[in-house]
Amino acid sequence: VTREATYEVVASPLGPDGGAGVVVVFTDVTEREQMGQIRRDFVANVSHELKTPLTALLGFIETLQGPARDDAAARARFLEIMGREAKRMNRLVSDLLSLSRVEADERVRPDARLDVAALVRSSVQTLRPIAIDSGVELTHEGADAPVHVLGDSDQLTQVFQNLIENGIKYGASGGSVLVRMTQSERELAFRGPGVRIDVIDRGEGFDPVHIPRLTERFYRVDSHRSREMGGTGLGLAIVKHIVNRHRGRFRIESIEGKGSTFTVFLPVN
Ligand code: ADP
Repeated sequence: VTREATYEVVASPLGPDGGAGVVVVFTDVTEREQMGQIRRDFVANVSHELKTPLTALLGFIETLQGPARDDAAARARFLEIMGREAKRMNRLVSDLLSLSRVEADERVRPDARLDVAALVRSSVQTLRPIAIDSGVELTHEGADAPVHVLGDSDQLTQVFQNLIENGIKYGASGGSVLVRMTQSERELAFRGPGVRIDVIDRGEGFDPVHIPRLTERFYRVDSHRSREMGGTGLGLAIVKHIVNRHRGRFRIESIEGKGSTFTVFLPVN
């Protein structure tokens, strides 16, 4: 049995031959059960993700009030760690808000006509200083001419920034990230004109078995590494929902030890 059901006896009429009969109504609750389970897992995950930095903060506060009160060097070190943990909580809460906002209006198509080429360019510019700090070469390829899509500019910017940030984060220092935009008259995914944005890194890559689960909330290939890099585990889930809302397609490819390519296809207006 792969599906779950509840049943209810609604009547006990007499059968055609005068014998007793029973009418039973089965209700398939598989989906409802699955949604309930997903929601419970989500709440457990969020609580866990918030509790870890919170426990660290409480521990440091106690130490600062007690043993480390008069130790200036320890105080400075602890405050730095506390700042980092608080920033992580802040990022997590912002990502959770973004995710719930996108999910809430996923069915409402964004309708502002905007230039996606300009959004890609400005996302690259915004992240260039972080790339330089991380020793990653960030390059951009694509025409300067405007490419119009119907979209939400904050959300699309978030998509490009999440993907480029990941490329930088998981690209080994000294690696590279290429952001390439190409247009096609007949994008197969939409049977019409489309634009394709590839974010290609020559970083650590991962085993492709992870690909189907990578856009799930809090799914990480290596959770220790993600946390160390300040990741929330929500970035790709947000990307997937925003791309869906724009009637686009999202594709992930990766070779372990070589690097990954994250591709967004959007219909051109
Ligand atoms: P996180 O905040 O952990 O980076 P994401 O949802 O953005 O969360 O990504 C989920 C996981 O996918 C990451 O934890 C990481 O394991 C993997 N990942 C994402 N982008 C890349 C990349 N460019 N190279 C290697 N692994 C990646």
